[in-house]
Amino acid sequence: MLFDTHCHLNFAQFNKDLQLVVSRAGEAGVKFMLNVGCDIESSRRALELSEKDTYFFASVGIHPHFSGNVDELIWKEFEKIACGNIVAIGECGLDYYRLLTPRKKQKEVFEKQIILSKKLNLPIIIHSREAEDDLISILKDYEVKQAIAHCFSGSGRYLDFCMERNFFISFAGNITYPAAKNLRDFAKQVPLDLLLLETDCPFLSPQAKRGKRCEPQYLTYTRDELSRLKSIKAEKIEEITTSNALACFKIKL
Ligand SMILES: [Zn+2]
Repeated sequence: MLFDTHCHLNFAQFNKDLQLVVSRAGEAGVKFMLNVGCDIESSRRALELSEKDTYFFASVGIHPHFSGNVDELIWKEFEKIACGNIVAIGECGLDYYRLLTPRKKQKEVFEKQIILSKKLNLPIIIHSREAEDDLISILKDYEVKQAIAHCFSGSGRYLDFCMERNFFISFAGNITYPAAKNLRDFAKQVPLDLLLLETDCPFLSPQAKRGKRCEPQYLTYTRDELSRLKSIKAEKIEEITTSNALACFKIKL
């Protein structure tokens, strides 16, 4: 059985056919799904879904794109949602690529989420795009020990940093893209005990389904690609990544 450690079934793209999506996931062997929040509304929805289904888990977070309007009131509201039954904080981090929120504000909201994750003894799910220097220095300053580098992309330096700290490193369907050679090279370097699988659906459909809405059933493409890259049977990749995910999110079945 597979664990999709980062999906967004809490987004409106799945409102119409969520049940079908979940049953297709089940047929593909995807048993567990972690719905990840990006703002107040999607965090609340992730939590709501986790209460409906024992195979859904929730992470609540404020994505750097949506950090701009976080004032004291919104933060208080967020802290309240984080009191629910969640397994991680995030996605959070820094994104200097699109820079929808000024850097200073992104850092402030990221740091607040790190502090909260430590208080709750939960891992953080990190989104990083073209912001590695600041990201690494914040993670060092706060001595972050429990983290997931979600949809890994970036430099060898960032990869080394994550591996040194025993952060989990998660790969998504973009590892199957023809242009993603350096991502595949990175995946080969990641030790099995730090490896996680995710779809980041509705985004990042694997090459075979590119252009379509992504959904958890396509996690098999990422599993199979990692199996090929590491010359390890797909069943073994599945077993290890699911057990890593259960350990990472401290889930007891
Ligand atoms: Zn995401």
